[in-house]
Amino acid sequence: MTDREKREKIQRAVHKDREGWLRAQRREIAALGALYLRYGRAVKLDIIDAANSDGLLVGVSAPALERAVSRKIALLAADRNDLFDWAVRASATNGAARIAPVARIAGAEMPAATIAHAESRMASWLERHVAEDGLNLSARLWRIDLGAQDKIISALRDGIRQGEAIDKTFKELLRGGAPDAATTRKIERAFGQSRAVNVGENIQKLFTRRGEKNIVFNVERVLITETNRVNGHAFIESSRDAGAIGMRWCLSPSHPRADICDDYATADKYGLGPGGYPMDAIPAFPAHPLCLCYLVPIFPWEVRK
Ligand SMILES: [Zn+2]
Repeated sequence: MTDREKREKIQRAVHKDREGWLRAQRREIAALGALYLRYGRAVKLDIIDAANSDGLLVGVSAPALERAVSRKIALLAADRNDLFDWAVRASATNGAARIAPVARIAGAEMPAATIAHAESRMASWLERHVAEDGLNLSARLWRIDLGAQDKIISALRDGIRQGEAIDKTFKELLRGGAPDAATTRKIERAFGQSRAVNVGENIQKLFTRRGEKNIVFNVERVLITETNRVNGHAFIESSRDAGAIGMRWCLSPSHPRADICDDYATADKYGLGPGGYPMDAIPAFPAHPLCLCYLVPIFPWEVRK
C-alpha cells in the first residue's frame, strides 16, 4: 500500500465511522423528543384533571396546579440530564475508539487503555468546556429550563384567567336572559378556547417540535452541538495519542451550503495540505451547531518530503 492509498483508506474509515455515529446521534435526538413528549402529556393530564364540570379551569388552586406542573418540569430536567450524560459519554467513547481502525491502517500502536483514557478525559473536559457565550453545558441547559418553566407557567396562568373570565361572562349573561345568536357564537368560541383540554393541548405543544417557540428545539440543538463537540475532541485526543501531528478538516458529502467550514476545509496555512492543521491550531470544532464535518488525523509519514 502506498502512502497515498493508506491516507485514502484512513479517510474512508474515519468517514464511515463518523456517519455511523451521526445515525446514533439521530436516535438520541429521537429519544430526547420522546422524553419531552411524555412529560408534555403528563402536564396536559394534570391540567385537564383540574377542570370543573364545565371543563373550565375555574375555582382551581392555581398555586397547587403550578406546583404539580413545576414538579413535572423538574423530573423532566432530571431525566433529560441523565440522557445527556449517557449521550455525552457514548459520544466520547465513540470518538476515542475511532482511532482503532485508523491505527490498524497506519500500522500504529494503539493500546485499548489509551482509548479508555482518552474517553474518560473527554466527558469531564466537556463539562468544564465554556463556549463563546461564557456558558458550559450545565449552565446552558439550566438557562433553557428556566425559560421553559416561565413559558409553561405563564401559559397556565393565562389559561386559568381565561377560564375564570368566560365563567363570569356566562353567569352575567344568564342573569340577563337569553343572549342573541351572534353573542352566543362568540361566547361558544371563547368557551372552547378556555376549556382545560385546550389549554392543556397548547401547553403540551410547548414540549414538542411543533410548538411555536418550543423548548425541545433548543435542547435538541444543545444535544447535537455538545455530543458533536465531545465526539470530535475525543477523536483529536486519541489521534494525538496515536502519534498524529495534526488533523485535516473534511466536509461531509451532505454539506448543505457554503459556510465557514468550506474555508476551514480548503485553507492550507501550515503546509499540511488543504484543511490541514497542526494539533494546536485546529479551528474550534464543531464550527457551528449543525456542523457535519469530520476530522482526519495527519501522521508524520504523510508529510515527509
Ligand atoms: Zn461543518
